Amino acid sequence: MSSPDPSFTYRNWAQTFECRPELYFEPETEDEVVALVKRAADEGKVVKVFGAGHSPSDLPCSDGYMLNMDKMNKLIEIDTRTNTATFEAGVRLHEMHPILRAQGLALSVLGAISEQSLAGAIATGTHGTGIQFGNLSSSVRYVRLVNGCGRVMDCSPAQNADVFAAARCHIGALGIVTRVSIQCEPAFRLESVQEPIEFETMLDDMDQLVHAAQHTKFLWFPYSNKVVISKLNRTDKPVLRPAEPWAITRLKDRYVYELELYGTRFLPSFLPEVERWFWSKHYARRVHLVDDSNRVFNFDCMFRQYTNEWAIPIEHTAAAIRDLNAVLANARYPIHFPIEIRFVRRDDVWLSPSYGRDVCYIGVVMYKPFNKNVPYRNFWLDFERVMKSHDGRPHWAKYHLMSYEDLARVYPRLDDFLAVRRRLDPKNIFLNDYLKRHLLPGGKPEIPEDPKIQGQFANRPLKSKL
Ligand SMILES: Cc1cc2nc3c(=O)[nH]c(=O)nc-3n(C[C@H](O)[C@H](O)[C@H](O)COP(=O)(O)OP(=O)(O)OC[C@H]3O[C@@H](n4cnc5c(N)ncnc54)[C@H](O)[C@@H]3O)c2cc1C
Repeated sequence: MSSPDPSFTYRNWAQTFECRPELYFEPETEDEVVALVKRAADEGKVVKVFGAGHSPSDLPCSDGYMLNMDKMNKLIEIDTRTNTATFEAGVRLHEMHPILRAQGLALSVLGAISEQSLAGAIATGTHGTGIQFGNLSSSVRYVRLVNGCGRVMDCSPAQNADVFAAARCHIGALGIVTRVSIQCEPAFRLESVQEPIEFETMLDDMDQLVHAAQHTKFLWFPYSNKVVISKLNRTDKPVLRPAEPWAITRLKDRYVYELELYGTRFLPSFLPEVERWFWSKHYARRVHLVDDSNRVFNFDCMFRQYTNEWAIPIEHTAAAIRDLNAVLANARYPIHFPIEIRFVRRDDVWLSPSYGRDVCYIGVVMYKPFNKNVPYRNFWLDFERVMKSHDGRPHWAKYHLMSYEDLARVYPRLDDFLAVRRRLDPKNIFLNDYLKRHLLPGGKPEIPEDPKIQGQFANRPLKSKL
């Protein structure tokens, strides 16, 4: 193991949170993880792990010890009989894709990116879209972890079954995950058809559209009546990629867009114009693609951003979007595009946002052009109010205001999860501010005050039509 670094600063990808741990380690073996956990427990230190650091919150932060698992990224085994693959838990999803493909396998569904580590992705119930497909946590078949006493535990439906039910979506609270087995399927290509539709068409035909493809996603553009629907289906068709000039134009436009968003920090009344321009350049026409599954599932999330995302029962989808639209129509704050609407099948993972119910995820972003702050507080507060009124559960990786009492109302197995946590971590060495704030009774979640920007966002609605 590399020697501990006392000068390390952790920053998440979006650079919205940072912390300075007392010591930082990069273990290469499970024995080293066990030794570190025992040392932390003896010295009364908090110890947290980060994978890719892509969570848009302080979820992995610690002022005690921090570990990164990038060096524990090896394939352990592939079982071609059951199509399951076991990896060391620090492996990134993008490292898994070529290894799986070489064995004729692929993950059944992915989110927007493949940067995440396997343990980090399942920690927060990372999801893609597709009403017949669960999130990544629901595909986990085995978890191995080092608990707070330094004991290695193998967890599956047959061994430590209660720990397994908790650890498939573990939010970093149970131990240090060292191995994960995940269900795959035979490698496949996806055909994607993306086209604009009217906002009202999406709402009126929601039930039919959600089932119109294996993986359906909507991008809704505020300041407009427009939505883009993406329909993805497995196919044997040959690869079809966009022409090179289109890809280059898109890259250039991305920087122009960033520059324009930067300008709207000071001249907010131009925001609807800017969004109109980007829409007309990139979303107003039909786009048809065929490629390997991971290349189609993943997409360009552009630059650093604040994000907020909730899972609501699927039957609330149209009503929740109408409520949100009504709030945003009169909003006295800016809204960046797009609002992302995705669907996930129910599962039996205790803290999965899709535990026991098919869900619609609604996600909002506020970009940080050139990594500069933008105000998002009022948007987040209104968004959370609407999501809560529809019985929503927040994405664990993202910032939210749910306390233990709120979460206990929407997660029937929360107390079972916390009982497992206390048993596995009697000295609370994995408890950090995030977990105390949201998971323990009496925690007080807050959203930080907005940064002050001179001349920002005049107090008037910015709504206009495309
Ligand atoms: C651009 C972008 C796009 C995204 N797209 C999606 C999306 O489409 N769908 C979606 O659901 N989410 C999405 N996310 C969120 C992302 O999937 C989650 O934040 C995920 O948890 C990040 O994985 P990570 O490896 O970076 O974990 P980190 O952020 O590093 O850690 C997350 C949690 O896992 C814990 N952890 C990590 N490794 C271990 C380990 N080995 N043992 C124990 N605990 C561990 C950490 O302590 C922390 O509690 C996106 C994020 C970004 C920045």
